[in-house]
Amino acid sequence: MGRVSPSIALVTGANKGIGFHIARQLAEAGLTVYVGSRDAERGEAAVAEIGERARLLVLDVTDAASVAAAAESIDALNVLVNNAGIGDDLSSAPDTDPETFRRIFETNVFGVVAVTNAFLPLLRSAAEPRIVNISSGTGSLTRASAGGPAGSLAASKGGAAAYRSSKTALNALTVFYAQALADDGIKVNAVAPGLRATGLNAMASASDADPAEGAAGAVWLAQLPEDGPTGGFFSFDGTPIPW
Ligand code: NAP
Repeated sequence: MGRVSPSIALVTGANKGIGFHIARQLAEAGLTVYVGSRDAERGEAAVAEIGERARLLVLDVTDAASVAAAAESIDALNVLVNNAGIGDDLSSAPDTDPETFRRIFETNVFGVVAVTNAFLPLLRSAAEPRIVNISSGTGSLTRASAGGPAGSLAASKGGAAAYRSSKTALNALTVFYAQALADDGIKVNAVAPGLRATGLNAMASASDADPAEGAAGAVWLAQLPEDGPTGGFFSFDGTPIPW
């Protein structure tokens, strides 16, 4: 498949982990990349590492004022990558208090709605607009229902319930945004980077899988050609994942 050549991207939570690699790979592909970071110092360090195509955009996805200020501070955007996420609780639903659900949904679901809606006016007037939501294969209800290999969350009898249900909700939003924005030519897809060695949670920390490889799927979806998919859920290698 070919690819389009969007020129400006924003990656939320790009100061480290998978988001950093998405930002770096998009910059390497020739885009100007806003490195979303809720902490200016951490963001500046990432910008310096990525190089001349990177710009800092201070953005806390859970803070309405921060989202509004960030959206007002730039005047063009082709690609939005909703990457910022938290998933520090691996408990099952009976062992998870509502406040933990609320906190995780605040970043992984409501933050995506806030950021997407705030930047939509720029995306609507951009060429080749794309939205990429960083989901997780652990949010697939089909996989969860079928169980999975020993040691995986799918085999864990409902573990990480708050995180996984937040990603299931993000998948639903991916479909609904794709449908609502189809007439605007905005493609919206979700991607699962796979378990990667980041600080997301104990399972990610114990992994030795390269986060840069997990970032590649988002980079592909950010540059989808006009005949590319929308409203889909893909693995980092482009393989469709069942909802
Ligand atoms: P990570 O290393 O912990 O990075 C998370 C990033 O999100 C950090 O930059 C963090 O900023 C940022 N963030 C958190 N809350 C934020 C907020 N309120 N506003 C703005 N930024 C915020 O984790 P990661 O593994 O790279 O995770 C990136 C995405 O991949 C997440 O959506 C995660 O669910 C998804 N994912 C990861 C894995 C995996 O195995 N690692 C697997 C599947 C999906 P700070 O540095 O300020 O905390």
